[in-house]
Amino acid sequence: MVNQDVYDELLEKFGAHYGVAPTVVSYAPGRIEVLGNHTDYNEGYVFSAAIDYGTFFAVRPNDLGKNRIVAGDLMHEVTFPLTGATPVKEDTWANYVIGTVAGLAALKPQTRGFDAMFLGNIPLGSGLSSSAALEMCTAKALCALWEIEADAVTLAKIGQRAEHDYAGCSCGLLDQISSLCGAQGKLVKTDFRTLKVETVDLGPTVCFLMCNPHAKHALVDGQYNSRRQACEEAAAYFAKVLPHPVTALRDVSWAEWEAHKAGLDPTVAARAAHPIGEDERVLEGATLLEKGDLEGFGRLLNASHKSSQVYFENSHPEIDRVVAIAQATPGVLGARISGGGFGGSAVVLVRADQAEAARAAIAEGYKAQTGKPCDVAQITPSQGATVVFRAE
Ligand code: ADP
Ligand code: MG
Repeated sequence: MVNQDVYDELLEKFGAHYGVAPTVVSYAPGRIEVLGNHTDYNEGYVFSAAIDYGTFFAVRPNDLGKNRIVAGDLMHEVTFPLTGATPVKEDTWANYVIGTVAGLAALKPQTRGFDAMFLGNIPLGSGLSSSAALEMCTAKALCALWEIEADAVTLAKIGQRAEHDYAGCSCGLLDQISSLCGAQGKLVKTDFRTLKVETVDLGPTVCFLMCNPHAKHALVDGQYNSRRQACEEAAAYFAKVLPHPVTALRDVSWAEWEAHKAGLDPTVAARAAHPIGEDERVLEGATLLEKGDLEGFGRLLNASHKSSQVYFENSHPEIDRVVAIAQATPGVLGARISGGGFGGSAVVLVRADQAEAARAAIAEGYKAQTGKPCDVAQITPSQGATVVFRAE
């Protein structure tokens, strides 16, 4: 099992706090976005992966008529009612759990409460989706405890609702789907129109590095919204000029973009180029992976970053710097910005046997150029969310 040490620590803390053992323990990993940037709301495709860092959730029923949840790292306890729980203002980590519980209880109302505790090793707020991991380990444990049968998309939507309504974050479904559907050595390919999810073999010869230079996000909300607006405007234009139906940029090919871009405002045309190009790169990437062409797949990551710089302008000078350092490092097959952009982290595809040397070289190279640290963590695509223990 991945992260056995975290599991052992959680069981020890659970026993010490509640005086009994849990009846169910679940696990859910964080995720990385590998290819397909800003394609989700354009109804396109994304490659992501579940990572080898995650969160465990231990639970047992109680007869107190209320739920108790403890964050194992802080050893703080929050109590909330079985029905009608509202978001809390302190210990806001509890909102991810409370929101997920609300979504599950709507599927199957409960008369008994539970005692729970969670513990994980995903760095919080660094773009690896510790929040989705927390929601999905909560969901997996309570589905087992409450005997709820629900598919991945249903659970992902419950997590998304928790983010929207309880944590105040209007995220898509990628984080939850990746956490649920990831598998050892595989990438997750999601079609955001149909929500069809497939896994694609990446194999053991490569892994990833996540590089976080702690670049400041400036005016991220406004930038994000303006990009979404430009994509919508472009889709409306293509719906008028193309002979086939267009409801989102997913319906527009690169060739159609080139043929008709002159009719668009140049900035809007540039913005639209990014998700259109990303969709084609994800589909081409799937073909390359089928053939085992990892070098070709890596080149698509480099092209993705170029597209972010040139067309979408959602990169950041410090991300550009770390991407350039990575792309020049031996063993690296490709590097790009990961996630929303305007800061954040870069994801690097690297040969597994050169990953440690590349990790050190990128961190040192960044430090030499800037005098500042860049956190570089090795990531291996790993199993998705699952129940890891169930008492007889
Ligand atoms: P990300 O999902 O990229 O890590 P978010 O801001 O969406 O960043 O979520 C981070 C928040 O999730 C934390 O501030 C905390 O409230 C909550 N959280 C997630 N995992 C844990 C954990 N293991 N312990 C405590 N809080 C957690
Ligand atoms: Mg999050």
